[in-house]
Amino acid sequence: MEKYFKIFLDGYYGYWNYLQSEILYPSWHNYFYWLIGLSLLVWMLEVIFPWRKGRPFFRKDFWLDAFYMFFNFFLFSLILYNSLSNVFVEAFNDFLGLFGITNLVAIEVNSWPVWGQFLLLFVVADFIQWNVHRMLHRVPWLWEFHKVHHSVEQMGFAAHLRYHWMETIVYKSVQYIPLAMIGFGLADFFVLHIFTIAIGHLNHANVKISYGPLKYIFNNPVMHTWHHAKHLPKGSHGVNYGISLSLWDYLFGTAYIPNDGENEPLGFDKVEEFPHTFWTQITYPWLRKKNKKA
Ligand SMILES: [Zn+2]
Ligand SMILES: [Zn+2]
Repeated sequence: MEKYFKIFLDGYYGYWNYLQSEILYPSWHNYFYWLIGLSLLVWMLEVIFPWRKGRPFFRKDFWLDAFYMFFNFFLFSLILYNSLSNVFVEAFNDFLGLFGITNLVAIEVNSWPVWGQFLLLFVVADFIQWNVHRMLHRVPWLWEFHKVHHSVEQMGFAAHLRYHWMETIVYKSVQYIPLAMIGFGLADFFVLHIFTIAIGHLNHANVKISYGPLKYIFNNPVMHTWHHAKHLPKGSHGVNYGISLSLWDYLFGTAYIPNDGENEPLGFDKVEEFPHTFWTQITYPWLRKKNKKA
């Protein structure tokens, strides 16, 4: 037990030191400044080439989403995630050790060329995420958490990172075992991460880009607008579940783009009654249950 507590604390202080040095020392390998730089870039695109015209400079909920962006990307790790995930990995390895399993790796990719490793990790991780995203829509208690992301009523790049921190936990835990089996462990694929943030920012941006024929491979603002549409095709839990790749939706028949969706109302049924502040939104899934019981 003491061992796990030490890992928890080390994770906490380790991340705190990491975050401090990220902010104090800009470099090319720095998530903090890359996130700010990419955000400013996509924001500029929205201002110069707006898709839906006549939007104010700071659209509805801009500052709420900006806060989510830093909370989900940096602060949540400091408060909880980093420490907990280190403890989980250690406990999981100890658990496997009980059965004499000391190595999960089934495919050794370290000997592959770097681009091959990137490609494999990107495609496998994205496919797992696509499946998790479908679950977030289908499983009622998960949907209560995912509603935070779908409470966006006006698209803009920062909406990308408006989501409940439970999503981080769900996505990462489901991904952990398959990725550990391919031998990726907790490796840091910086470029890949930056690439997926760029695609995600663009998917939510108020710019009309659909990448021509590449739209069958990459998710894009037009396709993702329909993911956020308030009115879904009858009997469906959702459409266009893709994160970075749109490919899975075309392969498995969940792609749905009836028109460009420029003026399509976004959100879900009774979205106007959904809480509007950070704190009320992240406590909503639990408080909602209490209210229901009462
Ligand atoms: Zn969704
Ligand atoms: Zn979205």
